[in-house]
Amino acid sequence: MNKPYSHQLQVILYFLMLIVLPGLGTVTAIILAFQGFISWQDVILCISLTILTELGITLGFHRMLVHQSFTANPTVKFILLMLGSMALQGAPSTWASIHLKHHANTDVEDDPHSPTFQGWLHAHCGWIFTMNPEVHFQARQTFGKKFQQDKMVTFFDATFFAWSMLGLLIPFLIGGLNGLLWGGFVRLFLALNFTWSVNSICHIFGGKMFKTDDASKNNFLVGILAMGEGWHNNHHAFPRSAFHGLAWWQFDLSGYIIWILEKLRLVKHVYRVPEDILQEKLIIK
Ligand SMILES: [Zn+2]
Ligand SMILES: [Zn+2]
Repeated sequence: MNKPYSHQLQVILYFLMLIVLPGLGTVTAIILAFQGFISWQDVILCISLTILTELGITLGFHRMLVHQSFTANPTVKFILLMLGSMALQGAPSTWASIHLKHHANTDVEDDPHSPTFQGWLHAHCGWIFTMNPEVHFQARQTFGKKFQQDKMVTFFDATFFAWSMLGLLIPFLIGGLNGLLWGGFVRLFLALNFTWSVNSICHIFGGKMFKTDDASKNNFLVGILAMGEGWHNNHHAFPRSAFHGLAWWQFDLSGYIIWILEKLRLVKHVYRVPEDILQEKLIIK
């Protein structure tokens, strides 16, 4: 099979898994719910798996792996990378490489997903299906080398698709077809869109608390839905900060969990932005 052909097949598979099945699954689940085919088990499966897999992305892939905001005990690290892999957002080192490229080129031409350059839909999810394989490869070469040194990361890179499928198998085994609909496809629809909203909405709508040279914004709604990642202006101002919510009212579920894990001594070296550096970039004093 030649390379362009296999790339096209890969794009079709991604489109099916990330857009078609979650979209159709969600519409079907809602229609069935109106006819009474929904149980508390379905709702609990959907909510718990959405939160757990999202935390795998925000805590595991994003704050731990990409930004080294903390170091985790090996068991916690394994669980976070496993949950992140179940979210179907790409293998850990691929996710991390693309995200580092976003930080290195935020809202300029080489940004993989900037609404400033190619519009909202491209930044939201269009980039996943239109990215040139060569650009993808270069991103991994430039930003992903260090992740290849980490044996646990390479393990999840190699087995990523199996974990993604486990994310569908678990709700099916617990709740049958309705479990698969709510804990699998509705969960994917919600969790994927919450993460994608950080890349799209949080570079368009919201306010700025800190000076940055990009279009990043703090968005209250995405802050809540994406487990604290919607405080995106804060994040671009201080990428390494373990806490994205930097005011008491900025709800940051991922940050609260890091704080609890630190108290339990399950994570350490939690990075906090020194107060004077925080004050220097603050817009409203
Ligand atoms: Zn951003
Ligand atoms: Zn980041």
